[in-house]
Amino acid sequence: MQCQTVLPGAECTFQGKQGCVFTSGSCQNIVENCEGCDRVVDSTIGKVCSAYPAPEKKWAAGICNFASHVKVEIKTDDAKINPLKASKKAAGSKKKK
Ligand code: SF4
Repeated sequence: MQCQTVLPGAECTFQGKQGCVFTSGSCQNIVENCEGCDRVVDSTIGKVCSAYPAPEKKWAAGICNFASHVKVEIKTDDAKINPLKASKKAAGSKKKK
């Protein structure tokens, strides 16, 4: 249904026939970590997130998984392993037994 509280007209899954069913009956404002994210939108209560109604909770356990402005770096070993050679090596070690 369409939001009837902070983002009138925006489609929202928390909007029900009895109004907003999210905790406290409304979205919450963004937190400092959200600055720069593409999902920040202006609402009747200031800046809110268009993807999740409680931005503070999204950052409570680390980086928000919806954030568009933060990239997670995955570290890999510098030594590259050829999967075919690794497979042959593993198969060869089994034959010796
Ligand atoms: S997607 Fe995450 S970082 Fe972006 S505004 Fe929403 S809560 Fe903040």
